[in-house]
Amino acid sequence: MSVLIDKSKWSNSSRRSSEYSGQFLNVESYSEFIDYHCKKCSRHCVFTPEEQKVAFEVDKKIIHYVPSLCSECSNNYEVLKALISKYQSTWNRDREFLASNRKFVSDWLLAVKEKNSYGKRVDLSRERMLTKLLRDMP
Ligand SMILES: [Zn+2]
Repeated sequence: MSVLIDKSKWSNSSRRSSEYSGQFLNVESYSEFIDYHCKKCSRHCVFTPEEQKVAFEVDKKIIHYVPSLCSECSNNYEVLKALISKYQSTWNRDREFLASNRKFVSDWLLAVKEKNSYGKRVDLSRERMLTKLLRDMP
């Protein structure tokens, strides 16, 4: 099963990349099934033509992009990301009070460590900052 390509919906970088690399250059549809393994759970996955259309034309990913996570891990990753940004905005509002709240800081650190374990946009500086904060807490 192949899916028609609409190159007008690609990002500019994808169009440029296609010209340089020749990838998809004279091709009118996504037809490859690309195998990959989830970085988190190692499950075998397939990046389907339908998924490629969404990735390149809706999410504007670059055309040599291949997902690094399976859909389940990807959903969990998004949940963690949302949770961490909630911790961050709570922190920004009330930093002085929260700096001595061991429960808040350790829950936040736990979420950051869990997110880092997905191997995607690993944020070690946040992890170090929170670890230090906990260590220095009276
Ligand atoms: Zn997975």
